[in-house]
Amino acid sequence: MSLVQSLYSAPALHLLSQRPDHPVLYFAPSILQATARRFLAGFPGLVTYAVKANDAVEVLENLMAAGIEAFDVASPFEMARVKALMPSAVLHYNNPVRSEAEIKTAVGYGVGSYSVDSMGELAKLVRFGVPRSAEVTVRLRLPVKGAAYDFGAKFGADPALAVELLKAVSDAGFVASMTFHPGTQCADPDAWRAYIDICADVARGAGVSLRRLNVGGGYASHRTGPAPDLEAIFGVIERAADRAFAGAVPDLVCEPGRAMVAEAFSLATRVKAIREDGAVFLNDGIYGGLAEMPILGNIDRIESVSPEGARNGAPVQHVVFGPTCDSLDRLPGMVPFPGDLAEGDWVLWHGLGAYSTATVTRFNGYGEIEVVTTDRLA
Ligand SMILES: *Cc1c(COP(=O)(O)O)cnc(C)c1O
Repeated sequence: MSLVQSLYSAPALHLLSQRPDHPVLYFAPSILQATARRFLAGFPGLVTYAVKANDAVEVLENLMAAGIEAFDVASPFEMARVKALMPSAVLHYNNPVRSEAEIKTAVGYGVGSYSVDSMGELAKLVRFGVPRSAEVTVRLRLPVKGAAYDFGAKFGADPALAVELLKAVSDAGFVASMTFHPGTQCADPDAWRAYIDICADVARGAGVSLRRLNVGGGYASHRTGPAPDLEAIFGVIERAADRAFAGAVPDLVCEPGRAMVAEAFSLATRVKAIREDGAVFLNDGIYGGLAEMPILGNIDRIESVSPEGARNGAPVQHVVFGPTCDSLDRLPGMVPFPGDLAEGDWVLWHGLGAYSTATVTRFNGYGEIEVVTTDRLA
């Protein structure tokens, strides 16, 4: 990902003047900073940013400019990148599986908080020198069967193990806290409520008073319907914590990735071909900026731009392929485009700042996405 500093007021002006044949990601720093300030103003606790959603330097710099000072990092690369930009940044290392070398690197960076979901990983933190002044958060996952919410297929301790882990964290002398992640693009505030209730049960079961409760990321972005109201979710979280931990409410922490950065970027793809059978070939696809579409479904916030002006034809459903020669490189289902869409037009996909550039591959020689800074995206 290369950064072009020229500033355009909106994507269409850049597209029509430069006529790029490669995919372009438009970045509006003002939108990113406004979102950061919304989290900072609304969330009842510490706001950290989950770097994996988009680790671009210009993203981190703008979040720092807006007042974000703590970051959820998962790897030494992410630690180095954040610390290079802000030496005073607070790092939370919430990838619960770590090698010896990774732990030693984290200790070197002065990481202040680590999550764990197994006894073996806790023992590694002790063995490889994490100071007892550090916080260790026990990552909870709700049991898949019978639970209201089925999340956390990879990480997390079930409530019974979480009780044992929390006791062990406290006995080892670390600052004892808990964390969970309700699942990405989580539109249901009840997920947070359910997790918070069970965290309180776990803490009571362990006889440990939590210093902090990290309620994760998972805040949804606007992909199809309107995005869930962030402030409403913050309210649910605050009330749930007040009720579940009556008398001894831990300090709250959140670590949004997607919802922080999604709205700040739009991706422009170009129509390479419209075949006789109606299939549309774009210059980017599932190995590039549209990687999440097969997992989360298509974003329906599409706008087309052409030298002839707005395309207003009645929508027609198309099969849509990316540029590689791999037949998997197809968006799920059908996508509606204006009936007068033509080869050479651009299709703008809005809300694509998270898990887009972060996962781009160079498969088949594609994947070079230019980033252009704009004042606004529409
Ligand atoms: C990925 C991740 C996040 C961010 O999740 P979003 O759904 O993008 O908000 C937060 N915390 C942890 C531990 C993660 O792994």
